[in-house]
Amino acid sequence: LSTADLIEEHRICVCVRKRPLNKKGKEDYLHQTEPSIIDEERIMSFPTMSLWTPKQKVDLTRYLENQTFRFDYAFDDSTTNEMVYRFTARPLVETIFERGMATCFAYGQTGSGKTHTMGGDFSGKNQDCSKGIYALAARDVFVMLKKPCYRKLELQVYATFFEIYSGKVFDLLNGKAKLRVLEDGKQQVQVVGLHERDVKCTEDVLKLIEVGNSCRTSGQTSANAHSSRSHAVFQIILRRKGKMHGKFSLIDLAGNERGADTSSADRQTRLEGAEINKSLLALKECIRALGRNKPHTPFRASKLTQVLRDSFIGENSRTCMIATISPGMTSCENTLNTLRYANRVKEL
Ligand code: ADP
Ligand code: MG
Repeated sequence: LSTADLIEEHRICVCVRKRPLNKKGKEDYLHQTEPSIIDEERIMSFPTMSLWTPKQKVDLTRYLENQTFRFDYAFDDSTTNEMVYRFTARPLVETIFERGMATCFAYGQTGSGKTHTMGGDFSGKNQDCSKGIYALAARDVFVMLKKPCYRKLELQVYATFFEIYSGKVFDLLNGKAKLRVLEDGKQQVQVVGLHERDVKCTEDVLKLIEVGNSCRTSGQTSANAHSSRSHAVFQIILRRKGKMHGKFSLIDLAGNERGADTSSADRQTRLEGAEINKSLLALKECIRALGRNKPHTPFRASKLTQVLRDSFIGENSRTCMIATISPGMTSCENTLNTLRYANRVKEL
């Protein structure tokens, strides 16, 4: 495939990524029940044969049917971020240079590797965001800028980083300032006061990711508890003489299992769950509308889709979804839900 073909094929690209077992070995895991990837065919299969783990009996009656799903790409647990990037976000960097709008989502349950994929490795003491898709995309933006055909456009690069939590928008590059979202008469959506930072090189971007990331989790007892309930949106914006030329939105979505919190005893948790549910459903519909060139995109249904409105309209909009899944036995149900959702995004 040529680059042009890749771009065309990627108007909507849906892929799945399975993370490795965690090192502590605490996960219940049985080979036969883990989702497996059949590489060349780009198929994800979900065999469900065995009902036993060494420690406990697991009721898998609901999964007894052998299930297979077809995706544009399926990445197994030996795949690096760089590889995932090359087939997902990389073709979209081209899109924003060609005056387009690009979005790349990581969708999946908490702990399945969304942040690892998008933001980089934050597990150890040496937090390294340079290997995440945010940083890899930024790196290639600066490489592309130097190409003669783009250099002459004199494009400027900016970045924003914000979070959507319970339907409210917070600026991660400005001390979590709460922001208003306005829609003008021409249906243009604006996040009022969102800080757009001028960036000159990849290192500038890495610094912003670190700032935003620590801002995202500051004051939280558990980083994952908070991030599982919020969507993080990192954007790379190209401007020419002040006017928008292209925009790449890279999104680390709230954990999709949170949508099930709608029956929780705690009111706040319930409301958050309902909000997450709503936004993930709206997101699916907006991407589907994009794939069918439908004139009416239901972007108003949630704050997430509202702020991403520009990205779902226009002829030159491209989207990629990376569905992340865990290999563990206890994740079966969430894994199936994730695969079904990802499948629906592209299904006609
Ligand atoms: P999420 O953001 O979906 O909640 P994380 O990205 O925080 O999940 O991943 C959960 C844990 O698994 C982290 O410790 C992370 O470092 C690890 N992890 C996730 N994906 C991978 C991967 N592909 N390779 C190695 N470790 C991974
Ligand atoms: Mg996360």
